[in-house]
Amino acid sequence: MMSMRKNIVAGNWKMNCDISQTYLLLDALKEQQISDDVSVIVAPPFTSLQSANQALLDTDILVAAQNMHQEATGAYTGEVSAAMLKSVGVDTVILGHSERRAIFLETNALLASKVNIALDNEMTVIFCFGEELKDRKAGTHFNVVKQQLQEGIFHIEKENWNNVILAYEPVWAIGTGETASPQQAQEMHGFVRNTLAEVFDTDVSEGVSIVYGGSVKPGNAKEIFSKEDVDGGLIGGAALNAADFMAIVNAFE
Ligand code: PEP
Repeated sequence: MMSMRKNIVAGNWKMNCDISQTYLLLDALKEQQISDDVSVIVAPPFTSLQSANQALLDTDILVAAQNMHQEATGAYTGEVSAAMLKSVGVDTVILGHSERRAIFLETNALLASKVNIALDNEMTVIFCFGEELKDRKAGTHFNVVKQQLQEGIFHIEKENWNNVILAYEPVWAIGTGETASPQQAQEMHGFVRNTLAEVFDTDVSEGVSIVYGGSVKPGNAKEIFSKEDVDGGLIGGAALNAADFMAIVNAFE
């Protein structure tokens, strides 16, 4: 059966790349061929979003923000709203990255309100979730993931799942060089898809793209992406190198 969901590779640049480094990296990305069966997203820091969006206007590469605030406007010094992102042409936002959860203490409840305002603004949400090493060692990783999803995003209306990409990122595999095995990734992605079918229905569970993140590199992407329920990747470190990122983008069979 042909799946209707898309293959997606998104690059999370984190707090890297000033404006000149942004242009250099984007120019290098633009030189490479992208196969038709994959959607490519890059998420530079806020200061590069508008320029990146303009630099990529003549390409199929989309630009995402790495975070945004949950309120529409007001006295929130240092924050950026959904409308501000949209005003510079950015319609996609990463929410719930493990660094936001761990360093900036973002809770599932807070993330639920960020999800709401993103969807109210007709943005696409890349919603990240994943267990810590202690959870996996304790064997509670499925419960932890289910709770993150239940409290962070399962409240949304069925129609809104068209605007959601899920990103499973086991915290112990992010930036550590340690990758979940393709089997571990598949096991969790399959669990999430089954849970979506139970809580919503198979339109939702079969339609949503679930990408994997955690030390994906050119050398391991093909095997991870070949798994039935893995629809691509969220890439950190390797997204800062154009050749590596594009090798990952083109790693679908
Ligand atoms: C990430 O930060 O989303 C990530 C997956 O990082 P890395 O690829 O460096 O592990």
